Amino acid sequence: MKLFDVYPVNPINIVKAEGSYVWDNTGIKYLDLYGGHAVISIGHTHPHWVKRIEEQLHRIAFYSNSVQIPLQQELADLFGKVSGKNDYQLFLCNSGAEANENALKLASFATGRKRIISFTKAFHGRTSLAVAVTDNASIQAPVNENPHITILPFNDENEFADTMDKIGHEVAAVIIEGIQGVGGIQVAEADFIKLIRKKCDEYGSVFIADEVQCGYGRTGKFFSLDHTGISADIYSMAKGMGNGFPVAGIAITPEIAPKHFMLGTTFGGNHLACAAAIAVLEVLQQENLMQHASEMGDKLVQQLSERNIIKNVRGKGLMIGFDVPETYKDLRKNLLNKHHLFTGEAKPNVIRLLPALSLPESACDQFIKKLDFEISYINQKNVEAISVSG
Ligand code: PMP
Repeated sequence: MKLFDVYPVNPINIVKAEGSYVWDNTGIKYLDLYGGHAVISIGHTHPHWVKRIEEQLHRIAFYSNSVQIPLQQELADLFGKVSGKNDYQLFLCNSGAEANENALKLASFATGRKRIISFTKAFHGRTSLAVAVTDNASIQAPVNENPHITILPFNDENEFADTMDKIGHEVAAVIIEGIQGVGGIQVAEADFIKLIRKKCDEYGSVFIADEVQCGYGRTGKFFSLDHTGISADIYSMAKGMGNGFPVAGIAITPEIAPKHFMLGTTFGGNHLACAAAIAVLEVLQQENLMQHASEMGDKLVQQLSERNIIKNVRGKGLMIGFDVPETYKDLRKNLLNKHHLFTGEAKPNVIRLLPALSLPESACDQFIKKLDFEISYINQKNVEAISVSG
């Protein structure tokens, strides 16, 4: 049977991983600055995480939400403590798209309204509402067309304020990534976030922060919005939450009251997922990983900014993006194939760094050294090409 071919894949078979490193089936060791798409938070196969999951597996892996699962409350308590959102309510599910789908649906339930505002270059997932608020027509099927969605220019205060003043009383939710991931590491300005808060309060709309990629400590604070001092009404999260174990959730303001059956899931919040998520929060705390991410991020940003071919270095903590000029378009590919270094990309010419929050300082140095080597190699090739054509 064939696999449904939806991804262009690198011809690399990773069979082993530890911390910030992965190994392929031929024994080649790679430095992972991509974190399997921002998923690896506390480091691949962290021993505490493995132990927690292993122990849980021997007790019980799954039972449905029709019975008490005390691990969910344990997770909620720890989550409240580490995130500082102790007064919020936690709903557990399985993926980023599902988290956003539930967040948007809940906002509509809570307000009785239908309209949703999102922003250009946003990525919120592939389920029906999540993809409708995503700014990419090519991944929307005809059935995903949704007349209730308005996509406004990212960081454009005037346009947003004008729109809210016109339709704010019909708007159920405004959804934004504090730092856009798939959109190429674009940081929402603090004033823009403050304006969203203000207009949502004025018109009774729900402010949803999609923290699926930029949350869970990645930017050096628990939520990327924490850098602005503003709180959202709902935070969606996934990727780093389980360090690779599929677990996701939404943190919901105490102002939104639950009703039985308004949300639901079979797998969400299962025993094994909770064990993985608890282990992540424990390690995040014990190893002070948010502060570490902040320090390593500052170091990388500073060093990248000093390389003159690298443009627009941006991001926070270990969510970093930079532009690469057309003449260096092979840089990312060469970093992987020649230097065994995984990075992320965003179209057309952005390199994204989304490593584990535990990235060792020696790995940062290793990356910069290999980057310099490759930049001078490409420089050399470019000079040769010019002299041949000249
Ligand atoms: N929101 C954001 C910001 C994301 O980056 C992603 C995944 N790239 C999603 C939602 C969707 O997450 P998932 O693939 O787990 O459904």
